[in-house]
Amino acid sequence: MHLDLLFVHAYLITMQGEGVGFIEDGAVGILANKIICVGRTEDILKEYEADRCIDASGKVVMPGLIDAHIHTGDCLIRGVSQDINNWMQHGIWPYSNVLRKDTDAVLKGSMLNILEGIKAGTTTFCDFDSPMTEIIQNHVKIGSRVKAAEMINDMPKVNKSKVGELYPLDEEEGKKKLQRNIDLIEKWHGKENGRITCMFGPQGADMCTKEHLLEIKSLAEKYDTSIHMHVAQGDREINQMVQRYGKRTIPFLDEIGYLNDRLIAVHLTEATEEETEYLASKGAGMVLCSGSIGIIDGIVPPAAAFLRKSNRLALGTDQAPGNNCNNMFNEMKFTAILNKCKAKDPSVFPAWKVLRMATIEAARTIRLDHEIGSLEEGKKADLIMIDMSKPNLSPVILKPIRNIIPNLVYSAKGNEVEMVVIDGKIIMENYHVNTVDEKKVVSEAQEAAERIAEKAKDLFRGMENTPLMQMMHRGEL
Ligand SMILES: [Zn+2]
Repeated sequence: MHLDLLFVHAYLITMQGEGVGFIEDGAVGILANKIICVGRTEDILKEYEADRCIDASGKVVMPGLIDAHIHTGDCLIRGVSQDINNWMQHGIWPYSNVLRKDTDAVLKGSMLNILEGIKAGTTTFCDFDSPMTEIIQNHVKIGSRVKAAEMINDMPKVNKSKVGELYPLDEEEGKKKLQRNIDLIEKWHGKENGRITCMFGPQGADMCTKEHLLEIKSLAEKYDTSIHMHVAQGDREINQMVQRYGKRTIPFLDEIGYLNDRLIAVHLTEATEEETEYLASKGAGMVLCSGSIGIIDGIVPPAAAFLRKSNRLALGTDQAPGNNCNNMFNEMKFTAILNKCKAKDPSVFPAWKVLRMATIEAARTIRLDHEIGSLEEGKKADLIMIDMSKPNLSPVILKPIRNIIPNLVYSAKGNEVEMVVIDGKIIMENYHVNTVDEKKVVSEAQEAAERIAEKAKDLFRGMENTPLMQMMHRGEL
C-alpha cells in the first residue's frame, strides 16, 4: 500500500496500552490526515511504501503533546507580574485592562504563544480566551489542533471591589460573552477537517451568576460538548463562593449538576482531597497546571487525590504571565518534581505516567481520545520527532534499563523537537515552522508588547504592592 509519509527506524513511543507502548525499531505510516500503520520497521516495510520515507534513526517519534489549558491571548504580558501575592488583582488586571482593549495585541501575543508551543512539541491546545473567533484564526493559519472556548464571565466592565470583598456580577455583560461562545461553536466546531473543536468556557463559578451557569450547562448538553472551567482556583474564589452561596465551589457545582464527564475542571488549587476525589468519582476531568499554580500561588494542587479515583488528568501551561513558559516538557518535569516533594516520595508521579498525562490521558480528559493522544491505526496523524543525540538527551540506553522516557521528562527542554506533524501535515521541519514567518511573529509581538507596557504605566500609579512598586522600592527602575 502506498502512503504519503512513513517514519522508520524510530524509537517509537505509541502510548498504546497501559504504559508507553515502546517499539525499539518502530515505524508509523500516514495517509492524508490519518495514521495507517504502526509497528516494527521490518514488518511495516514489507507492506508499505511512501512518497516520503523519513529515517528516524536515533530519534523518538511519539504522539504530539496536548496542552489542556492555555490562555494564548495573555502571552504579551509574560513575566510582568511575578513573585507577588494576589497575582490576579495586583499583577494581571492592570495590564489586562490595557491588553484586552487592543485586540491586535492579543492576537499578536496569541500567535507567539502558539508558535512557542509548537516548537516545543505541542500539537493540541485547549485555548481558553477572548475574542476566540479571532484567536482561532491563528490556529487555522499555523496549523495547530485546537479545542477552543470563549471565556465567559459576568464581571462588570469596571470592578472597583477590593481584595476580599464580594464582587458585583453583571449578567448583561455575561450575556454578550455567552453569545460569543455560542457563535464560536456555531461557526467553528468541526471545521478545518475536524482540527478545530469548541466547548463552553465559564471562567469560574465565582465569576458567573448561578442562572448563567445553569444556562451554560444546558447549552453544553444541546451542543454535546465540554465545559472548560477554572474550579476552586485560589482562596479568592472559595471566599467569593462562601460569601455568595454559603458553599465552597465543588459542593456548589455538585448541587447545580456540573460534576460529570463534560466538565474539564482546571486547577482545583483550593479543593480538599475529599472534594477532589468526589469530583473525580463523578467522571469530571482535571487539568493540572503545575508551573503556573506553583509560581502564582505556591501550591501543589491535589492531583494525587484525583488519581486515586480517575485517570482523566491532563496537564496545562495556563498562561505566560504566570508560568512563564508554555512548554509541555517544562510542565511534565514540574509536575513530577513538585508532586514527589509534596508526597515526600520519589516513586510517585513517575516519568512514564506524567508522559501519559501529556498525551493519551490528556486526550481522554478533553474527550478527544478517539482521535489523538496515541499512535494508533485510524487516529489523526499528530506526532513529533525528537533528536535524542542532543547532548542533554544522550546517551540512549535500551538495556537492561531503558532511559528514554525519564530523559524526555527530566532532561528535555522542548527545543530538541525537530519535526511536528499535525493532521498529517508537516508543520515544522528541521526546527523551522513552515506555516508562518517565525521572525515576523516575534517582532510583531515585541512591537505590540511595547505599546501595551507604555499604556499600562498609568494604571499602576496609585496602586500599592504591585510588581512595579516593588521594583521601584528596590531601586530597579
Ligand atoms: Zn487559566
